[in-house]
Amino acid sequence: MNNNNDLSQIYLDANATTPVLPQAAKAALSAMEQLFGNPSSSHITGLRAKDLMEQTRCKAKQVLGSEKGRIIFTSGATEGIQTAILSALISARDTLKATQQQGNDYYLLYGATEHKAVPESLKHWNALLGINAKLIAIPVDGYGNLDHAFISQYAPKSLMICTMAVNNETGVYQDLKALETTIRQANKSIFWLVDCVQALGKISLNLAQTSIDYAPFSGHKLYAPKGIGFIYIRENAPLTAVIAGGGQESGQRSGTENLPGMAAMSVIFDQLISTESCFANHQTLYAYRQQLADTLIKAFPQIVFNHSFNNSVPTTLNFAIKGFSSKEIMDLFDAANIRVSSGSACSSKVTRSFVLDAMGLPAWQSESAIRLSFGPAMTQVEVDHACQRIISTAQALTQSCMVLDGANIDDKTPLNGLVQLRSGASCTWIYVDAASKHALIIDPLPELTERLDTLLQCQQLALMAIIDTHGHADHVSGRVLLAKKHPQSIQCDGLGWPQTTLFVTDHDRQFEYIKVADKWLVKVPTPGHTNDSISLLLCQPLTGSDTLASNTLFAFCGDTILMGTLGRTNFDTSCAISMYDSIQLLSSVLAPQSLICASHDYQNEFATHLSAEYLRNPLLQQVIQNAITVDEFVASKLILDSQLNDQTGSEILCGALPIIACSKFKPIKEYSATSLAIALNSPKVKLLDIREPHEYALQHTAKACENVPLTRLVQFMQQHQQDKDSEWVLICRSGSRSLVAAQAMQRLGFSHIAHLKGGYALAH
Ligand code: PLP
Repeated sequence: MNNNNDLSQIYLDANATTPVLPQAAKAALSAMEQLFGNPSSSHITGLRAKDLMEQTRCKAKQVLGSEKGRIIFTSGATEGIQTAILSALISARDTLKATQQQGNDYYLLYGATEHKAVPESLKHWNALLGINAKLIAIPVDGYGNLDHAFISQYAPKSLMICTMAVNNETGVYQDLKALETTIRQANKSIFWLVDCVQALGKISLNLAQTSIDYAPFSGHKLYAPKGIGFIYIRENAPLTAVIAGGGQESGQRSGTENLPGMAAMSVIFDQLISTESCFANHQTLYAYRQQLADTLIKAFPQIVFNHSFNNSVPTTLNFAIKGFSSKEIMDLFDAANIRVSSGSACSSKVTRSFVLDAMGLPAWQSESAIRLSFGPAMTQVEVDHACQRIISTAQALTQSCMVLDGANIDDKTPLNGLVQLRSGASCTWIYVDAASKHALIIDPLPELTERLDTLLQCQQLALMAIIDTHGHADHVSGRVLLAKKHPQSIQCDGLGWPQTTLFVTDHDRQFEYIKVADKWLVKVPTPGHTNDSISLLLCQPLTGSDTLASNTLFAFCGDTILMGTLGRTNFDTSCAISMYDSIQLLSSVLAPQSLICASHDYQNEFATHLSAEYLRNPLLQQVIQNAITVDEFVASKLILDSQLNDQTGSEILCGALPIIACSKFKPIKEYSATSLAIALNSPKVKLLDIREPHEYALQHTAKACENVPLTRLVQFMQQHQQDKDSEWVLICRSGSRSLVAAQAMQRLGFSHIAHLKGGYALAH
């Protein structure tokens, strides 16, 4: 459902929250304007308010099929979960005390795919009440079904069990009848909470016919406003008020009631009860899901659904598209004005879904998960629009050579210059010469093989060389795989460096080079990180008095000089003494501002140059200025590398990360949409849209705006080496990529860089 039939955005994130149903919004407004009384007041205005509240409660009972139990209004499901857990645990603690038992002999069970509100609340109250029972996650199978044998085993020694009716990420529902049998056979008196947040309006719930003790619900997941929810509590199940005060809700939940929220909830209940509802029936919802799924399969043949359609509600689709991260698909869909969510929770580095992990799905599916969800107020018109837009996103990907369609090769915008692709913090560099259609790939990552192959085919490029800057210790090179698909006619050495008879002399040293279109690629041996490490300088051909320093465009230094640090030298094949010499050699063949393209970018800085590194890497500076002996360098390097032990996470780091003092950097100038509109009256201010071409193709501002995707930022910086004082304002979807890019550019000497705070999201 889109308000006012506005189809400019297709909102498919109903499991996060829904818009308010217009009838419900009207009822809430009327409650604010007319039925604004306090239900505790004994005058007529108060009595009317109370009547509305009680009518809503009755409807709730009717919807839930729970004539007997209690319904208490709350602020939402998280509060309902607190109420349930606190009530159950206080009662359990009293029983333990009375029977002189220890809490730590017991368990608290919860489903491994539960919303975090459940395990976190269990942990919180268990500790706060001093029960100290052991929290255990009940495993699920590959379909998301709870392990009943596990429950049978642990329930007899458990104080409480928390399960969910419908999962918020996958839509997978549990067979509550079968679950009840398992639970009650194992333990008749265990407190049972069922989180019903995602079930309301999607499956029927006859709570009175079950032995569920607590069932929390949330209004904003079903077209009511945020701030209203309710909890069903079974007759005779214990209840302790979480909020004490004025004694509202019969003392069970104090605080003046949220009448507008209840008025809206009342309308939602009407829709659930009525046969003439605006909510679609199950059959229609299944048909919507099928249409959306068929369209997704057509648009992205490499799609995988992360759940079975046989045990999930029709309103949720969770999928992954091979070769794309969830962030990439989110950005793409957002540009097409389709709102979905990444099916994963963000951790510090990796985004992956703990729900899909618990189901044992392959890592890539968990890392690439996208959740598309809608509510029962969905309409056929919206589904049709969503499908059209999904097709347009796929076309944009084809256009930008992210996906190969086989046809229309001529309509692709030709690539020219350097492209930086990443997998995690590792980088692959591709240099393309549009005129000759020749390409060069440096440090190909195996995860990117397909993407690289697609790019080469789509752009009809001939691959001149695939070269590694060293034998990588942290990953296998993708070079052999790629070379199989794009065989090289010239013999190469172990790193892919082609045999050559071409030599260039610089600083009295001879270096081999090969020709890549109209450029030279010069090989500079730079052992240290590994004994086979080389640096590759892409430069204009040298004539007359030219030097490598004057002619180098990009220096691919592998892991010798990393951004803010130096490559580690504590591998078996490392040698810190050699690294000392290699750094000195690089400083003689590179200009202070030559762009250094490393094989890792741990802190989103894209590239660097020696001038920028001098400022923050004293060790590098000392070597270059001969202010340190080789022995002193080796000793310092040993200390630096010892810090690696504390920094290794899931990724093997190739250099100890520097601690960058943020205060050292000048803050980036920020524009709001309004101040940017004024600034753009000056012809000196130029806009750079730094999203990827497929996002840009789907949506961009009417104002003249150059598209410089992050993957081409280093190329842009190289082209504007003489133009560092221009005023550029960077924009992206949310303002986070633009900030990172602006920081990188400012660090490399671009003095008038700004960005649009909040990005396109806040610009309209
Ligand atoms: N449980 C589930 C399954 C949910 O999806 C959510 C919300 O995302 C919650 C609990 C928390 O609900 P509320 O936002 O009402 O606190």
